[in-house]
Amino acid sequence: MKRTIIADIFNPELVGEQVCVKGWVRTRRGNKNVQFIALNDGSTIKNLQIVIDLQQFDEESLKPITTGSSLHVEGTLVASQGKGQTVEVQAQTIEVYGTADPDEYPLQKKGHTLEFLREKAHLRMRTNTFGAVFRIRHHLAFAIHQFFNDRGFFYLNTPIITASDCEGAGDMFQVTTLDLSKLPKNEDGSNDYSRDFFGKPTSLTVSGQLEGELGATALGAIYTFGPTFRAENSNTPRHLAEFWMIEPEVAFNDITDNMDLAEDFIKYCVRYALDHCHDDIEFLNKMYDDTLIERLEGVLKQPFVRLPYTEGIDILMKSGKKFEFPVKWGVDLQSEHERFLVEEHFKRPVILTDYPKDIKAFYMKQNEDGRTVRAMDVLFPQIGEIIGGSEREADYDKLLAEIERRGIPMKDMWWYLDTRRFGTVPHSGFGLGFERLVLFVTGMSNIRDVIAFPRTPGNAEF
Ligand code: ATP
Ligand code: MN
Repeated sequence: MKRTIIADIFNPELVGEQVCVKGWVRTRRGNKNVQFIALNDGSTIKNLQIVIDLQQFDEESLKPITTGSSLHVEGTLVASQGKGQTVEVQAQTIEVYGTADPDEYPLQKKGHTLEFLREKAHLRMRTNTFGAVFRIRHHLAFAIHQFFNDRGFFYLNTPIITASDCEGAGDMFQVTTLDLSKLPKNEDGSNDYSRDFFGKPTSLTVSGQLEGELGATALGAIYTFGPTFRAENSNTPRHLAEFWMIEPEVAFNDITDNMDLAEDFIKYCVRYALDHCHDDIEFLNKMYDDTLIERLEGVLKQPFVRLPYTEGIDILMKSGKKFEFPVKWGVDLQSEHERFLVEEHFKRPVILTDYPKDIKAFYMKQNEDGRTVRAMDVLFPQIGEIIGGSEREADYDKLLAEIERRGIPMKDMWWYLDTRRFGTVPHSGFGLGFERLVLFVTGMSNIRDVIAFPRTPGNAEF
């Protein structure tokens, strides 16, 4: 008999039908006459109740049915008498696929802490919480492709192994096939990378942007959505060593178009999650943070504040608030500053623009004032920076001067500079950290809980 997934079973038209369901046992309870199993197959947060009439089953054959075991059940779908569910299955046959020894299976009881479950990352997706998080993550990924596809953007896959340290953002993970215990040396004692796989030093990418610009100045509008690696040794609840980034890049967009795109994009994703992940978001709202839904809807209601960095610094300095990191013009904002502006001062998302050029990347368009660049960071409640972007410097001479001023090795950059040598155009783009978006939408507080197998300093077990 063909299996019905549990997400499809709560359908009044199926009542009275024979059904086949498969899944894992969440709980088993009952008495001498009747037993109830809560079965979950991952397709929805809802469990399906399986009712076992003990007159029809041999007790011994039911022994292996414990929390965590896996079953194949056939029976009749009936309207439920009990509260908490609309339908249930009156079991006729039960096959146990696999047992889960109650003395060994770690997810016996409910209410494990998130820290405990992080140690059990190989199993935690079987819990309500992580099932909800990873279903929401899926829907957000899907929404992102939908958003860009509907607007004529092309999905571009940029390389994961790269020879350029584009942004100097954090430290990079080196990629090599050389034998680290006997590295080939040049005469001056330095490593001889001509003998390495690519004939030069290479690393894992920290951003697909530079290649994205090549795509945008050919296809018009592109986006990337891929893994990104940063060996920054920062153990914060918002940083991973391996995370996923979405980077749209659009020819002919200026910074205002870029802000409009970023705002539309995030709002679209949040709206999509509210529309498509209702049960999961409601569960997280109930279990972890009962202001979650309110916060998500809040973001949709109002336009984001758009504010130059210089004015943001003024507000922070006049706030009278004691920050751990003191503020003055020229400093890079810490998450405490970003969250003050968003959560306390404006009480809605803020797009901060026109940052000092020395705290931003070399490729950002230089303003006439000579000291700021056309950067735009989107700051969110609970999260801080969720998007970083800018209008790009399209002028060849200005870009070259900035590259030289910063001492960036030119030999690595010639192909990027060609975008400005041949048919240069104004263009803009940004990077959204996917896990920061998932954090916001799920209301989880640690980024390690929104990626299946987090990579952080000292942690690559699973
Ligand atoms: P932060 O200041 O928070 O470290 P950043 O300014 O270094 O971020 P960008 O280089 O602007 O980050 O990257 C674009 C986006 O990627 C950020 O806005 C953020 O959403 C996300 N991001 C950056 N670093 C990480 C990380 N280590 N883990 C997860 N997401 C990240
Ligand atoms: Mn940034």
